[in-house]
Amino acid sequence: MDIVESVFSLPVQDPPEEDFCSADLTWTKFGTAEHQDDVALIPYDRVDAFIIGECSIVECPTRFHIERGRKRTMGSLKEYKDDEYLEYRQYWCSFGPENYGEGGGILPSRRYRLNTRNRAARPQSMRGCICHFVVKRLYARPSLALIIYNERRHVNKSGFVCHGPLDRDAIGPGAKKIPYICNEIQQQTMSMIYLGIPEENILEKHIEGIQRYCAPDAKVNSLASQYVHKLGMIVKRSTHELDLDDQASIRMWVERNRKSIFFYQDTSETDPFILGIQTEWQLQQMIRFGHCSLIAADSTFGIKRLKYPLFTLLVFDSRQHALPVAWVVTRSFAKPDMSKWLKALLDRARSIEPGWKISGFLIDDAAAEIDPIRDIFCCPVLFSLWRVRRSWLRNIVKKCSNIEVQREIFKRLGKIVCSIWDGVNTSFALEEFVLDFVDQTAFLEYFRTSWVPKLEMWISTIRSLPVASQEASGAIEAYHVKLKAKLFDDSHLGALQRVDWLVHKLTTELHSSYWLDRYADESDSFQNVKEEYIASTSWHRALQIPDSAVTLDDKDHLFAKVLSQKDSSLTHLVWNPGSEFAFCDCSWSMQGNLCKHVIKVNMICRNIQGYQLSKSFLSFKEILMNLWKKPMDDSVELDQANAWTHQMLDQMQKLVELNTSTHIGTVVDKMPLKWVSKKGRTSVGKPSSTLALPHGCAKGKSPVARKKNRKRKRLSRLR
Ligand SMILES: [Zn+2]
Ligand SMILES: [Zn+2]
Repeated sequence: MDIVESVFSLPVQDPPEEDFCSADLTWTKFGTAEHQDDVALIPYDRVDAFIIGECSIVECPTRFHIERGRKRTMGSLKEYKDDEYLEYRQYWCSFGPENYGEGGGILPSRRYRLNTRNRAARPQSMRGCICHFVVKRLYARPSLALIIYNERRHVNKSGFVCHGPLDRDAIGPGAKKIPYICNEIQQQTMSMIYLGIPEENILEKHIEGIQRYCAPDAKVNSLASQYVHKLGMIVKRSTHELDLDDQASIRMWVERNRKSIFFYQDTSETDPFILGIQTEWQLQQMIRFGHCSLIAADSTFGIKRLKYPLFTLLVFDSRQHALPVAWVVTRSFAKPDMSKWLKALLDRARSIEPGWKISGFLIDDAAAEIDPIRDIFCCPVLFSLWRVRRSWLRNIVKKCSNIEVQREIFKRLGKIVCSIWDGVNTSFALEEFVLDFVDQTAFLEYFRTSWVPKLEMWISTIRSLPVASQEASGAIEAYHVKLKAKLFDDSHLGALQRVDWLVHKLTTELHSSYWLDRYADESDSFQNVKEEYIASTSWHRALQIPDSAVTLDDKDHLFAKVLSQKDSSLTHLVWNPGSEFAFCDCSWSMQGNLCKHVIKVNMICRNIQGYQLSKSFLSFKEILMNLWKKPMDDSVELDQANAWTHQMLDQMQKLVELNTSTHIGTVVDKMPLKWVSKKGRTSVGKPSSTLALPHGCAKGKSPVARKKNRKRKRLSRLR
């Protein structure tokens, strides 16, 4: 075969099929007489189609992940070769590159097989596959991509086929007949087991998954049944307690789960304990949803009850629900410690996606160190009022018995917070507040001990940072509530003081539940899970309430009434409408939560003159006014400012487009490849007011109140 030396001599291939694979392309030897690669040139916008096709080859169904990536900016090179890259990505078959199989390191799955007599069960993911290729977006012609196939066979270093139906050397009895169980099915099966779904439903889904790769077969079904049963037994017998000593146990966990850890520092004389957990799936979600978007923190969780408090980093997913993408277990939030793990987290994302960055970071604790966030993420920090709101509301309900007094106190506290921006003297307003409610001794005692000492710090933080929206606050709160339900509604309450228990809970049950939520939504399967996931934030539940159910008190703006959708004889009274500190009398709100009635009423108030504007909107307005007031002479700087502002406007335009479109297919097509199955692409993604959901599927039930046996019953209906 001839060797081609210039990219310009290669034909551009654009196969007509929706997806295509390497077999549909003609490969050319490219390079010099000493070194050549197999290459093909395709339009850059067909790269996704190629990767999808390459994943679905019958002999070796697989996934490809990005093992390495690099980027250049246009104009950064003066001289370049014709195959120089603008973007460089190395894709590796997900059954490699590490070899955990025979002769390799530890089997990652070994902990699930402790009790099987069959020593030679199949390795589950890493098979040392060396199949990989590179996609170069060409610097000289960015509309084209050069695919360089380094190794097209799915073989290990010894040259043996190492996965797929052709893997004749698979270990274990019957292995030759079992089609390979890919990561996704395995994750699905594990998730379902961890969530307590009945075995017969798990098996049905498991077989469905396998049949994507092979024809129905009784033998396959019976083997799958054994597999699922065995996995279930192993999960049941698996324990968080790897050692009686918690510290030793955690060290063992760390040793076995290197891939799910982005930072670890053991306790020593000089350093405190820090454990940063992030699974590969979480990393992918962080890269996908965090890029040019927001990261939020649910900090200081369990500060009183857990051995070490938990700090969660969240992204807002395609439905703007909070999705946990990293957990940090530590007692230290000192600047140097925080800097260390923040840096490790950013480096990890950048090693996969160079140029990955976030636009903003939401904090919920005024005591949080802001400098490390600003220094490392180089982005603005926003403040969410959800934690202070929740804490006040819970204590008001707990400590004041009269509902009228509860309403008034909450309203007054809200006013004090709002007055921060009006330049009113806050300490004077507080004194007045204390005098007016002097008879509410229990609440005032709480307020004095818990808030007065740090109030100044909170006020200055709230004043200096932009305030996050109600939707974001509701989403973070929804995560917080779910976490609490999972951790504290448990028979293992005695284990709260063990870190290994916390880590086990997070990485098994909680991780599985978020994984399944996202999977159900993206693949449009598990309808019950999907519906419950969609309705899991009060913002989404509020969207289900029609405007006609809300009546406002026009005269004094004192209250609003919301007619219940389930029981037409029931009306909820929302006191102080239009404010973040509105008070609703429904049971969800009485537990301190931001309820759908408050959100709905505030959505309506935003469009009516005379009601207050939301704090996040006021923050936004202030930024724009500052920008506008900035004095500029008629110089190049003005042109530059003009250009930047236009860019910003452009981006905001796109965001609005995304938020208002019912079908984001068109927008999604322009986005980078996502790691979901071909069928599972999100067709309805970003939330919108026109989201077509049947009424009544929004459930306002508290996950805390949900009984375990109810959950089982509901899950048994899963299909
Ligand atoms: Zn492979
Ligand atoms: Zn309510």
